[in-house]
Amino acid sequence: MGALVECVAVTKAYDPTRPTVLALAGVDLSVQAGEMVAVMGPSGCGKSTLLHLLGGLDIPTTGRVVMGGQRIDTLSEARRAVLRRREVGYVFQFFNLIANLSVADNVELPMLLAGCRPDEASRRRGELLERLGVDRFADRPPGDLSGGQQQRVALARALANRPALLLADEPTGNLDSAATTEVLGLLSDYHVAGQTIVLVTHDPRVGAAGDRLVTMEDGLVRADEHRNILARGA
Ligand code: ADP
Repeated sequence: MGALVECVAVTKAYDPTRPTVLALAGVDLSVQAGEMVAVMGPSGCGKSTLLHLLGGLDIPTTGRVVMGGQRIDTLSEARRAVLRRREVGYVFQFFNLIANLSVADNVELPMLLAGCRPDEASRRRGELLERLGVDRFADRPPGDLSGGQQQRVALARALANRPALLLADEPTGNLDSAATTEVLGLLSDYHVAGQTIVLVTHDPRVGAAGDRLVTMEDGLVRADEHRNILARGA
């Protein structure tokens, strides 16, 4: 299978008045369809920036980002927003659920925004919440749920539009050990079912769950280790 998304010679300078201060200093990374890639490295080394560029949340200063064979860094902000909605799911460390919407509405919203019919959004929300083991909370506000439960809801929301690419930025960074195991298990299940995932983590246990480990330092990829995907238990 070909690359689902790739960064080619990407740099990122956040401050145009300080163009030599680079969050990314020349990164090449190609993610194949179906891979689960873990990105690790010290705080500030550029992991989140890389994730944002892969998902079209931001654009590089120089270099290219290509998704499904199409350059996305040259698209207008509006077209990138459409592409993100359809092709990219995002999970954050602090869940980022909308506090004054029910769990059900949090998961249905991205589908409705993408033009899905309300009855179809509701059906699919039911399926996702059940699969992720949080359907009993559908009518509750997210604040009633534990961290692990909220991250399951966030995962349901991220997967709602069946994105080609699931990005997760420290998805277990705010969870205890038991909830980490649960969320990691769910991510692995989706991966085994074919979901392409790129996740950023500080947790070596989470890093070891991928079939590829990318290590970053000072805005550069220092190591890119592929594991034996057969060892995943296929
Ligand atoms: P990591 O995810 O590895 O902690 P980041 O990608 O968040 O690293 O940050 C890389 C560098 O870019 C850091 O020096 C950080 O301070 C800087 N940075 C990140 N986001 C912004 C931003 N929105 N504006 C300015 N600087 C930023």
